[in-house]
Formats: sequence, C-alpha cells, structure tokens
Amino acid sequence: MAVERHSNIKALELDDTNAAAVLKADAASAGPGVTEELTTREHPDLFPTLATGKQPQILWLGCSDSRCPETFMMGLQPGDVFVHRSIANILHPGDLSSGAVIEYAVQHLGVKHIVVCGHTSCGGVAAAMGNKQLGILDPWLLPLRQVRERNLEMLQSLSAESAGEAALKLVELKVRESLNVVIQKSVVLNAIQERDLEVYSLIYDVASGVLRELDIQDSQDVIRARLIAFKAEV
Ligand SMILES: [Zn+2]
Repeated sequence: MAVERHSNIKALELDDTNAAAVLKADAASAGPGVTEELTTREHPDLFPTLATGKQPQILWLGCSDSRCPETFMMGLQPGDVFVHRSIANILHPGDLSSGAVIEYAVQHLGVKHIVVCGHTSCGGVAAAMGNKQLGILDPWLLPLRQVRERNLEMLQSLSAESAGEAALKLVELKVRESLNVVIQKSVVLNAIQERDLEVYSLIYDVASGVLRELDIQDSQDVIRARLIAFKAEV
C-alpha cells in the first residue's frame, strides 16, 4: 500500500449558514461538493455500482478527529475502506465495537490490509499528556496514560525540548500499542499466517496531509511468543 502521499481532499467549505443545509435534503444549496464531483464528472457509475455491493480490501483503525477522513487521506473512494474510528485511535482489548469491526472485516470481508493510524495534533493525546479530570474520557484515555507512564522519563526529556515532539512520540507509541491489540486477536493471527494479511502503523501529519509509515519490525522470538499466547484453535 502506498504511503507518503498527499490527500486529495476537496472539502465543502462549511460555515454556519450552509452546514445545516448539508445535513438536510437540499444539500445542493450548500454548493458543489464531493458527491456532485464524484457522480457527475469523475465517476458517474460509482454510486449505482456501490449499490450492488463492495469488497473493501483495507480495514482502517484511526482517530475520530474531523481532520482525518481516511478515504480522502488515501485518495480512495466510498466502498474502498472498512472503518473504525475512536478518540485517539485507542483500542481497548475487550471493546465489543472495535472487536466486532475487526473480526467482521478479517473473517467475513476478507480484507488484505489493516491500518492503525495516529495523527499529529491529536486532542486525545494532548489530553493524556495533561492532568485535568475529564469525566468519561478518563477511562477511555487510560491506555494512553499507561503508555505515558511506561515511557515517562523519555517523554519528559522530550517535553523539555519541545512539547510537540513529546506529543508526537506518544502518538507513535500509542499506535504501536493499538497495533498490538489488533495482532493479539486470534482471527488476525490466523489471517496473517494463512493468507498473508498485512498490518501497517501510520502517522498522518494534519499540517501537510502526508501519511508516514512507522518502522516497526518484531523479532522472530516476539512473533513466536505472540502466537503461543494468543492464537486459538478454530
Ligand atoms: Zn486524534
């Protein structure tokens, strides 16, 4: 899968006056947008084709942030990507929603690629780097705070130089953490072994629109231990 590519976002220019119109039936009053572009000029057959079904090859696990729309970020189209997004792209191992999405995508859709993507300027990461009480967000952000705890010395040392560098490092560490949750699922381990399902760790730079792949390679010992601990017999 290609990385290091700029997004081709052609966003509607929303403001207070046309945002409501976009959500109502008369979306045309908001002006020309993505849908019109796709249907009338670039891909007139897209929506009729989608109505007959689609087999996405990519499962995307990313952040809910409005600046990170995965399909546009990769220059793809509706129907190309199966998606689960959450605040700070956190995956709790026992979470039913993300677990169901992953299992459905791997076992039933047969996706060939799984992407875990974090991004710069992530509000969830900034919150976890601070110490304010945040209500329901506190248990949600717990895995992120645990990563912060385990890497506190390094993050504090980076923070002394640049708060942005420290936050970016926590984003990278958290992407790795979420990837671990994915590859500890038996359905994923089976697909990696049986049909070469590939997993990727990406960071999206919201300031440039560039996707960067993290260089993460597990040793054979780590892979073997993971298989012994997490692979279940079908
Ligand atoms: Zn985010």
